Amino acid sequence: GLTLRGIHKAFGDTAVLNDIDLDIADGEFLTLVGPSGCGKSTLLRIIAGLESQDRGSVSIGGTSVDHLRPHERRIAMVFQNYALYPHMSVFDNIALPLTMTRLNLFERLPLMRQLSPRRRRVMDGIAREVRAVAEQLRIESFFHRRPGQLSGGQRQRVALGRAMVRHPQAFLMDEPLSNLDAKLRVHMRGELTELHARLGATMIYVTHDQIEAMTMSDRLAVMDHGNILQLGTPAEVYERPATTAVAQFIGSPA
Ligand code: ATP
Ligand code: MG
Repeated sequence: GLTLRGIHKAFGDTAVLNDIDLDIADGEFLTLVGPSGCGKSTLLRIIAGLESQDRGSVSIGGTSVDHLRPHERRIAMVFQNYALYPHMSVFDNIALPLTMTRLNLFERLPLMRQLSPRRRRVMDGIAREVRAVAEQLRIESFFHRRPGQLSGGQRQRVALGRAMVRHPQAFLMDEPLSNLDAKLRVHMRGELTELHARLGATMIYVTHDQIEAMTMSDRLAVMDHGNILQLGTPAEVYERPATTAVAQFIGSPA
């Protein structure tokens, strides 16, 4: 599982995470909800290693990952804006996490495409893995396009592919569906739930969408001002909100 112990973070004088403790089981789908600015994205970024905490520790399977850089953690993050590279093809965007770790700087030079037999072997392996992921997401047909030539839903799938290609233990998703229109969002909810079940990976999901939070999650963590106010199944949180702030945020009946 994934364990957070006493995660504390301040920007300047303002604490944005107040000693967060959280235990997430292997394969669990945990959703973080809470008002804008309560610290959800900061918490994900710390788990991913994109931001460092002032105090506290992140562990995976009982081992601290605090000293590991983002690509060394078996964690993948999907952002709201997908953060794809506009100048690269779909294939290259998905392959990037693998080429970055398996090719050395020299081998990444365009000139080496023809010259290095080792590079060709490594790239053949990477291409097989990228194709396997792309098949699952049904995106092989636009491998050669650039992100600007795709629809929102297609871009979203490419971002998922880039996250999946490393076979991470945990996926962190920060409002991954918020850029999609209503119809596609409903469709992708189903796809994400199905993908989560198929991969059996741990998911930490951030959303402002009440229906996503209620229908997709095993558990919800309701945050406010850098604290977790309540942690429980969607039904528990809805039916027995721990505080009036939770009740108001979740919209529980009074
Ligand atoms: P939203 O729902 O709007 O995405 P959030 O819960 O994801 O909000 P965070 O992005 O984690 O909120 O931000 C938490 C607080 O930390 C906010 O007050 C934000 O202004 C502040 N903050 C975030 N990143 C930085 C930074 N790099 N420097 C200074 N303050 C920051
Ligand atoms: Mg955020």
